[in-house]
Amino acid sequence: MKNELVLQGIAASPGIAVGQAFLYEKEDFWIEERTISEGEVEREVEKFLKVMEEVRGELRETRERVLRELGEEAAKILDAHIAMVEDRAMIDETVERIRKERKNAEFAFFRTLRKVVKALKASDDPYLRERMYDVLDVQRRVVSRLMGEPSPSLAHLESEVVVVARDLTVSDTAHMHRGHVLGLATELGGSTSHVAILAHALNVPAVVGVKGITELVEPGDTVVVDGYRGVVHVNPDDEALDTYLKRRQALLEQEARLSVLRELPAETADGHTVSLEANIEFPEEVRTCLEVGAEGIGLYRTEFLFLIHPHLPSEEEQFRVYREVVEGMAPRPVVIRTLDLGGDKVGMSASPEANPFLGWRAIRVSLMRKEMFLEQLRAILRASEFGSVKIMFPMISGIDEFSEAREMVEKAKLQLRQEGACFRDPPVGAMIEVPSAALVADRLAREADFFSIGTNDLIQYTIAVDRGNDKVAYLFDPFHPAVLRLIYETIEAGHGRGVPVALCGEMASDPLATPVLLGMGLDSFSMNPKAIPEVKEIIRKSTLSEAREIARKVLAMHSGRDVREFLLGVYKESLGFVKDML
Ligand code: PEP
Ligand code: MG
Repeated sequence: MKNELVLQGIAASPGIAVGQAFLYEKEDFWIEERTISEGEVEREVEKFLKVMEEVRGELRETRERVLRELGEEAAKILDAHIAMVEDRAMIDETVERIRKERKNAEFAFFRTLRKVVKALKASDDPYLRERMYDVLDVQRRVVSRLMGEPSPSLAHLESEVVVVARDLTVSDTAHMHRGHVLGLATELGGSTSHVAILAHALNVPAVVGVKGITELVEPGDTVVVDGYRGVVHVNPDDEALDTYLKRRQALLEQEARLSVLRELPAETADGHTVSLEANIEFPEEVRTCLEVGAEGIGLYRTEFLFLIHPHLPSEEEQFRVYREVVEGMAPRPVVIRTLDLGGDKVGMSASPEANPFLGWRAIRVSLMRKEMFLEQLRAILRASEFGSVKIMFPMISGIDEFSEAREMVEKAKLQLRQEGACFRDPPVGAMIEVPSAALVADRLAREADFFSIGTNDLIQYTIAVDRGNDKVAYLFDPFHPAVLRLIYETIEAGHGRGVPVALCGEMASDPLATPVLLGMGLDSFSMNPKAIPEVKEIIRKSTLSEAREIARKVLAMHSGRDVREFLLGVYKESLGFVKDML
């Protein structure tokens, strides 16, 4: 009888995978230190240089493959590895160690990289600390080759498996045998880690951050990876397994059923139309957006471009990526949000902050790093020439901040005009995700061309509940009357001045919230592209007059729990189903 376990992790890539566990273990190396004879030295140097050449070739090939299959952004993740094996100083230092200290190549190389690893490990900057894994990844690859051992790899899996690992490096994931990896479950990693990003792009269900999983799972165990709920179920009994398989089937059927809505408008039964748009992090997602019938991109989180780059991307690099998105979506609109670094996303601060969510984040970073901000704005403006672009600032807390940011757009335009560059005149909007901005939305509406409500942050700041802390997650409630009131007042304030209002937090994809937001008069919903068909179905089944009535009732309620119960009742009665899937 096998041990049944239900392990909670972080949902990293949606979908349900069921399969046999493949434990991907990479033993720590034992690197032998040998002193070689004078006569062996040049042979050792040659061996080292040859291996470096081979690894370089291998990595370039992988990059090409990833580029073909997943596009430029994913391929760039491998650039840091390639840069490392091309690093002249690192090669020279190793060669010198072999020659001067007469050490075997693998030891000399290990010693050279040790300094780098130590420095990265000690860094205060989480981004640099993450880079340590890239160095270790390259080290493993080179050293195992020097020792004549095959490097562990997921490229040659012979059957379909669920991969269970402590961590997966970029090259593990990039080399992975596509057809044979059904799902991934790792101990380390967050929802924005490289594994999560690549798993998403590859359409492989993944759960990361599952504590102790490599100790708890045995090779051959049956493992279910539930990438929606962030759960890994090990050796489920027949009944549980059957439930997962049914859920997976139901999801596939639902997807097929909803695909017929693709070309239809998000129009209520009584003729009111809203716009359903997508949130993206990478240009490769444009394809999915078009497949599900997104009417635009309501939130393009550009910070991900900065997070996967080994250096700050130049204006030119940014321009190329933004243009790809804008052209891909044209003539549909694309809301490009300027950098939102800090908070839970890696910061730019030299020293850690006590309260990063209340600290140097988003527009605050941009306004203090004006050169960087201007480069981003210039890149966005230049991309505006190729379709329909809107510029949006994150984490606006008041009018002055918005005006200052808007002035920077004017400055960027002036520069481009003087250079004779072409651009259009994109609308400039504010995210409403700080309660102070929601409370002065009537004044901000004089300055901004549009609003987009970021409920992920609005909820965390309004209820004082860290959005990433599972201890207080029970308090994180989109239906808290304070949150609902701020959303409603923002919509009213915007409409009072003819400013369209969108909502781009997770709440936009919560089917329970759809009638409420519709009834409050929201113009546009922006969400994970995969959620669009379902929200569209609910809108098409609703009427605006009923939704208004629902919103009116909900706004008068006293607690989030009351709201939720009421909405569940509405669902059962008028929409005929209760959502439990995603
Ligand atoms: C939000 O805060 O709701 C939002 C959409 O932005 P992010 O999740 O990127 O902070
Ligand atoms: Mg936000």
